[in-house]
Amino acid sequence: MKKINTVIYGATGSIGDSVLSIVRENKQAINIEGVTCDTNLKKLCRIAKFYNVKKIGFNEKSISSNKKINLNDYKVFDDISNFHQMISNKTDIVIFAISGLLPLQLLLKILRSGKKIGIANKECIITLGSKFNYFSKKYSTKIIPLDSEHNSIYHLLSDKLGKPKSITITASGGPFFKFNKRQLNNVKLSQAVRHPIWNMGKKISVDSATMMNKALEIIEAKYLFDLNHQEINAIIHPQAIVHALINYENGTSTAILNKPDMRIPISSLFFNFNKFSSKEFLLDLTKTPNLEFFNIDQKRFPALRICFQVMKMGGAAPHIFNYLNELLVDLFLQNRIKFIDIVKFIEINLDMYFRNNSNISDPTLVDLKNINNWIDNNLYTGN
Ligand code: NDP
Ligand code: MG
Repeated sequence: MKKINTVIYGATGSIGDSVLSIVRENKQAINIEGVTCDTNLKKLCRIAKFYNVKKIGFNEKSISSNKKINLNDYKVFDDISNFHQMISNKTDIVIFAISGLLPLQLLLKILRSGKKIGIANKECIITLGSKFNYFSKKYSTKIIPLDSEHNSIYHLLSDKLGKPKSITITASGGPFFKFNKRQLNNVKLSQAVRHPIWNMGKKISVDSATMMNKALEIIEAKYLFDLNHQEINAIIHPQAIVHALINYENGTSTAILNKPDMRIPISSLFFNFNKFSSKEFLLDLTKTPNLEFFNIDQKRFPALRICFQVMKMGGAAPHIFNYLNELLVDLFLQNRIKFIDIVKFIEINLDMYFRNNSNISDPTLVDLKNINNWIDNNLYTGN
């Protein structure tokens, strides 16, 4: 049997761990061609050795701090600007699981590859906006979303039951779903990076706590599935068994139910539903806690309200929302701003941006760069 040749960008992260766990169980079917990290070269080399990977990529700066690691056995790609060269004629699947906006240029290159891409990174999809689908279609690159909600939508839409009226995604609620305003005001960094259900990287864990993750996912769904702001919404579902619902005109909704385990959506990248089985994943609804659903309180979690505003505005607004979040989460992770200030400052900075600049309906990459420069030079952080 021909093995599925796979390149994993972001192999040392939480999504990377889930991908590797699937590969470990299916070594006869999957070959890893290349793996990358930012600075965690030790873990990357451990992965490369275990899975017999020949190509490794990392950011140049990590070499100096890892001088003792012997890289002679590998073909080395020592900067993210070279990572796209890891894809070869033989590559079947590319996994894009580097976090944040930094890998935008890499994504633009691999969108031209004509390969099958499993994309976990939502930040880059939002910033590219309609250009994301435009480029993937132009170069016949097949996109499979890995975010659990979007992966569910992708499979549900393949049912072709007709045109959906709307789509609902669910949010587990994060660690502070039941917190009041006073409690939210006192949240510490250590609390915000711990999610009650999912074990994820720091940025997305903070995003889940502020509900920015759900706000970003709503915009991600807009661009992936070409929806307007009235066709997508989100509700809280603490048990995280139902990930998305497709709602039809006649009152019917379809949904995919599965345990909250990223290996399930990721496995759909490699195997058809009926070709992949694992006892661990079997869902027994009689043994799961009651499934609950709630509206999201936009007063305590204003990220949702702002998200619909930026979607209505369109143009560069969703990117600005996304970029501000990236900068402010970074400041929070450095303990320089409070948890509650992340979304508060996003709103203040958005207002400030549009008081001084007009919106651009279809921003080019140069426009995006200029927007980022303006924000970098004018960012309000409470001082
Ligand atoms: P992690 O922080 O756990 O991992 C990020 C990965 O990207 C690591 O391999 C990291 O390397 C690498 N990386 C980070 N910055 C750079 C850089 N500048 N250059 C090269 N490589 C870099 O994140 P997650 O796995 O949690 O998330 C990855 C993406 O998937 C995010 O966009 C997130 O929104 C999305 N996602 C994640 C989910 C999850 O369950 N974790 C669910 C749905 C979506 P190093 O280890 O060296 O730092
Ligand atoms: Mg998700």
